[in-house]
Amino acid sequence: MSSHVERFAPSPTGSLHLGHAYSAMLAYDAARKAGGQFLLRIEDIDTIRSRPEYEAAILEDLAWLGLPWQEPMLRQSARFDAYRAVIEQLIERGLLYPCTCTRKQIAMSAPQEGAPGVGVYPGTCRGRGFADADGDYALRLDMRKALVSLGGAGVVKKLHFKEIGRGPNGEKGKIALDMAALIDGVGDIVLARKDVPASYHLSVVLDDAFQQVSHVTRGHDLFEAAPIHRVLQALTGRPTPIYRHHDLIRDETGRRLAKRDDARSISTLRMEGATPDDIRAMVGL
Ligand code: GLU
Ligand code: ZN
Repeated sequence: MSSHVERFAPSPTGSLHLGHAYSAMLAYDAARKAGGQFLLRIEDIDTIRSRPEYEAAILEDLAWLGLPWQEPMLRQSARFDAYRAVIEQLIERGLLYPCTCTRKQIAMSAPQEGAPGVGVYPGTCRGRGFADADGDYALRLDMRKALVSLGGAGVVKKLHFKEIGRGPNGEKGKIALDMAALIDGVGDIVLARKDVPASYHLSVVLDDAFQQVSHVTRGHDLFEAAPIHRVLQALTGRPTPIYRHHDLIRDETGRRLAKRDDARSISTLRMEGATPDDIRAMVGL
């Protein structure tokens, strides 16, 4: 069996739309072509927004699209103990600190945190110990300290990942990390909350390793997350997959499709009589 392992990792917080179908089809096709595996991971760490009905609809849509995944399917909600163990190790290494700034004070919606324009956390709570942390708090990675622990700028610039798709600005090939950009442009990202033992960034890195994913296929809106994931791989001793970021599927007006655009959900298109081949054609495959 080939060691080419792809995954599709939807969050069950809405229905699948054309953009999801495109990601899933690219990953499935690549796995099939390589004689590898196509895995499914339900990213349900957000226990408030995740719904079993959405998960059921995702499974139904994938089956209808003709994209069978290899069992077992992984749910992130079953991985909390594994995340917690890694968080505890990072705390012991002095790389995390509790932040009690409210969510309103700093916008921190998961995958986009660390992306340009979202705003870098100013470091208000950096250096704070755990003794006086009570109530709800976020655990932030002290980015500078983390990169210094890896060996500093010289070592960080040797860390890289391979991009076989493209980033939003056409980035491809070997992409090296940059310590200053990580400190000033990404900053001290949230890796967990008191009650949720992993953020998007940490759970994705740990689960891609756990599922032995060799190729990560996803939209180029997550390209900016790849350097963050590379840092977390280095910090936790996890391997680095190959990345294939793809263009986003846009609507007729050029606007990016979002979960709220129900008109373009796979189930609506199916109810209107579209076939899986029509969906393939609609995303340009
Ligand atoms: N769960 C994420 C999403 O639905 C995808 C995560 C990833 O592919 O890294 O947007
Ligand atoms: Zn804070």
